[in-house]
Amino acid sequence: MEDKKLERILDLVEHVEEKEPRRQKKEKPNLKESIYSLRLDELQEWLKENGEKPFRAAQIFEWLYEKRVKTFEEMSNLSKGLREKLNENFALTTLSTIISQESKDGTIKFLFQLQDGYSIETVLMRHDYGNSVCVTTQVGCRIGCTFCASTLGGLKRHLLAGEIVEQVVKVQQALDEVDQRVSHVVIMGIGEPFDNYDSMMNFLKVINHEKGLNIGARHITVSTSGIIPKIYQFADEQLQINFALSLHAPNQELRQQLMPIAKAYKLDKLMEAIRYYTDKTGRRVSFEYGLFGGENDSVEHAEELSKLIKGIKCHVNLIPVNYVPERNYVRTPRNQIFAFEKVLKKNGINVTIRREHGSDIDAACGQLRAKERAQETR
Ligand code: SAH
Repeated sequence: MEDKKLERILDLVEHVEEKEPRRQKKEKPNLKESIYSLRLDELQEWLKENGEKPFRAAQIFEWLYEKRVKTFEEMSNLSKGLREKLNENFALTTLSTIISQESKDGTIKFLFQLQDGYSIETVLMRHDYGNSVCVTTQVGCRIGCTFCASTLGGLKRHLLAGEIVEQVVKVQQALDEVDQRVSHVVIMGIGEPFDNYDSMMNFLKVINHEKGLNIGARHITVSTSGIIPKIYQFADEQLQINFALSLHAPNQELRQQLMPIAKAYKLDKLMEAIRYYTDKTGRRVSFEYGLFGGENDSVEHAEELSKLIKGIKCHVNLIPVNYVPERNYVRTPRNQIFAFEKVLKKNGINVTIRREHGSDIDAACGQLRAKERAQETR
């Protein structure tokens, strides 16, 4: 029922069809599955089916995630036959780096090309607590939020789990050069992770697994625009992963103006789902609240927001709008941002104002790809 509703609303979301991407190969390349898509148990299963010993899976994981080799050939404790079989059946590289740009604050933005020619973005952010990677889950997005650059060309396709995992592996390989580690992952790049739920879950399991990238669940954050049935499903997974909701408005009317998905998933039902999540997991939720000048950023909105989330175990992240040329939103003046924050604090709500990273290199989601897309369609 709820899924039907989503389909209907998503059909309403405008899809601007692009021409073939510039770098798409003329003949369809023979695409192999990414080895990074497989969980350890799936790789064990594959090995069994292919007449190999399941314990090899742990060895392969070690090559992939600890030694981070770039060819199957290098997996020297596997038989030549197995290495060949892996090579025939799987791809070890499905992303190639088109651009990596470093900002003055150390943020690095990667533009990767997929095997079928589409491009995606990944961002490495340096914090005092560690290195955080922001991953993309879809090529484009069909949610249609009115302020967001990622959704401008509609959805092209879902990413496979391996294409999401490889983003982190690629960034880790870059960090290997300076002996540093990816310590945190946020699923806040292009796309709606709950619209690509199964791949997102496999991704989570691989990066979280101790034999995978071993990134602690509490160091991983997933953010959704509010696909209610998936919030229930996610709550029932009982993971320790941090969960964020892009709320952006304190009432139904305003939310549906900013985010068309709110027409399918109403705010009252959404808040019920959020309460279910916090009750079921005992964990708090992060509300992301973009401040869009003159739209949702008055002290009255702050009071209304405080009422809406009263009693929910939560944290509010205020995000001053990132300028997107195709969108008309303007920044909230600094003193008004502080006034908004003050109201929330007065009402006993945990709140922070999000620090900007890499604004000199288009690090906000979808901005680099948007430029690339403009070239693709030339
Ligand atoms: N689709 C998921 C993941 C994206 S996370 C989601 O909606 O949560 C990226 C966050 O940045 C979301 O909270 C999104 O609403 C917000 N965002 C998108 N465009 C923005 C902009 N121009 N300014 C500020 N925040 C923006």
